[in-house]
Amino acid sequence: MIAEKDTLHTLLKTHFGYDHFRENQLEIIQDIISGKDTLVIMPTGGGKSMCFQLPALALPGTALVISPLIALMKDQVDALKANGIKAAYYNSTQSQEEIEKVIQDLQKDELDLIYVAPESLSLLDNVLQEAHISLIAIDEAHCISSWGHDFRPAYTQLGYLKKRYPSTPLVALTATADTSTQDDIAEQLSIPNAKRYVASFDRPNLFLDVRPGQNRIKQILSFLDRRPFESGIVYCLSRKSTEQLAQKLRDANHPATAYHAGINSEERAQIQEDFINDKTPIIVATIAFGMGIDKSNVRWVIHYNMPKNIEGYYQEIGRAGRDGLPSHTLLFYSYADTIQLRKFIENSANIEYQTAKLDRMQQYAEALSCRRKVLLNYFGEFLLEDCGNCDICKNTPEYFDGTVIAQKVLSGIARLKEQEPLGMVIDVLRGSQNAAVYDKGYQHIKTFGAAKDIAWKDLQQYIIQIINQGLLEIRFRESGRLLLTPLANDVLFNGYNVQLANLVQPIVEIPKERKPKKPKGTLFEKLRELRNELARDENVPAYIIFSDASLKDMEDQEPTTEAEFLAISGVGQAKLEKYASDFLNVIKAHIAKPKKQKVGKTHEETRSYIEQGLSIEEIAEARNLTLSTIYNHILKLREDGMEIDFDPFITTQEIDQINKAQNEVEDATSLKSFFTYFEEQMPYWKIKMGLYLLKDK
Ligand code: ADP
Ligand code: ZN
Repeated sequence: MIAEKDTLHTLLKTHFGYDHFRENQLEIIQDIISGKDTLVIMPTGGGKSMCFQLPALALPGTALVISPLIALMKDQVDALKANGIKAAYYNSTQSQEEIEKVIQDLQKDELDLIYVAPESLSLLDNVLQEAHISLIAIDEAHCISSWGHDFRPAYTQLGYLKKRYPSTPLVALTATADTSTQDDIAEQLSIPNAKRYVASFDRPNLFLDVRPGQNRIKQILSFLDRRPFESGIVYCLSRKSTEQLAQKLRDANHPATAYHAGINSEERAQIQEDFINDKTPIIVATIAFGMGIDKSNVRWVIHYNMPKNIEGYYQEIGRAGRDGLPSHTLLFYSYADTIQLRKFIENSANIEYQTAKLDRMQQYAEALSCRRKVLLNYFGEFLLEDCGNCDICKNTPEYFDGTVIAQKVLSGIARLKEQEPLGMVIDVLRGSQNAAVYDKGYQHIKTFGAAKDIAWKDLQQYIIQIINQGLLEIRFRESGRLLLTPLANDVLFNGYNVQLANLVQPIVEIPKERKPKKPKGTLFEKLRELRNELARDENVPAYIIFSDASLKDMEDQEPTTEAEFLAISGVGQAKLEKYASDFLNVIKAHIAKPKKQKVGKTHEETRSYIEQGLSIEEIAEARNLTLSTIYNHILKLREDGMEIDFDPFITTQEIDQINKAQNEVEDATSLKSFFTYFEEQMPYWKIKMGLYLLKDK
């Protein structure tokens, strides 16, 4: 059996162009090849497909892949073909001719993989019985479980597969973490002894950001202005709001389309396709959008409203950054949204269960410590250190003594006899002269206007913090009235202090001309244009040619020979043969021209900005260049003798790590070796900087 590690690594590089397996992939692949059943739980974008695609190449015969989504099936097969792998699909959308071709290929044992929709499986039954099936993969396996969120009746018939092919390895794959769903999958597929691989749910490249839901449109516009031409998804709760928001974005020159269940299926398919091909980079959608979208370069996801549980939220933000590059996720949080969600839940069957889930979601949104810890904690994982890649870590809240504010709030609530919800409490404390207040005579109570110096929204945020500290209880089922807890007495009467966090500000608008500018002239941009051209010629989505991650790697490494091109992540044998010359030409042209004549000037320009005291980020933004380009400039400037302090950019620990790596990397003259050694977590410029400093010592 060819399950040797070396052979598998060779297959990984020659067919997919990757140098390393990700967490668990190798073990899973080896298990499948040795005939074992497995259950794979990995987050979206974790690399599940590789777990069956590679064994499909290593084993004789054809791998049978059950996949629920027809659109996704075609893209996956196209991507495999682009890598020179013999794959086909079979579903209800194909012509008779196509179907016959697939069946013939299958009979002749000429396919490495065949993707089949569960509904079409029975039609193919006779052919499959005669074919040589190497393994069975069931993708999105949670669809079999009514516990899961995407139950598909056709999946429940898949139990016969294991009985029919008892000695063929069966692998079920899903991104749904909870154990009751896992148990259900194993039972229904008759694979009780399947080894379970649960990968970490951490997606470190996703930046987690939560902002107060005020002036959302303005915040979104200013967010998008900083990300021209990047692809992203905004999730809204209602159809109407998707339409309205998409229109507002278009008015501001951001190409956006609305997507919701009210649009007919033909149009929906077109919208999806335009999104995948980067024709419409922005989608404003209800949650109906997303499953079945396999687009690796989604750079950001915004939640206009808070989702009702963490599973849904995590799945949605998981659609960003599948290529592993940094991506931004932004959740707007407002107290009013949580009240509305609770109203929805009140009419549903299992209120307690859903309320508990919503509570956890709300805790996440209101967290004042590392968000990733809260999130992973929910999935049963524990981070030892703060993540450094969420809004809280980047901007740790400062606390102040909020005892007086808390006392005003608590005594105000006491004087309202614990009968009023948050909105009224705020109105009374701020001394609002509105009818609702006057009707109840609240203008006469002692705390009326006691907090009139605090803005309405700010006071709301403080009270939410006070609730979270356990001083107040909300009775959602009694129109949300606020009650004091026993702890409140300690604050009111026993001298207990309350610390409040300074408030997060909404994204501030940066004054900038409205029309987004396209970052022109970077190598990445040129490579992207070439990729789009090729994609149009071949009529495939751009990412099938190369992912953004591959283009990024080309930009960082600037390969000029075929051997160097092969070292790029995502370049295997087939893509080398097909694309090397086109891409190498663009790269060579890029470094030949501007580098010789202009590089001198361009880093000189960076010098003048540094002398004006701008930060690296500001320079990159002002010059429309990437951060790593600016870092390369400052390296160059220091080599040229300019006095630049590297301390802010690299820590002594990092320098030590690089020093240590010098003796351990495969090839100490190749930056790529270092990059790989650090599991792609340390950027090239930092490696260069470290090596420079070490050389200097
Ligand atoms: P999932 O099905 O788990 O959501 P995919 O199988 O679509 O995720 O993989 C996500 C991305 O990761 C794809 O672009 C895939 O090519 C890439 N990928 C998978 N395995 C590796 C690997 N070992 N090294 C680099 N990239 C990988
Ligand atoms: Zn964090």
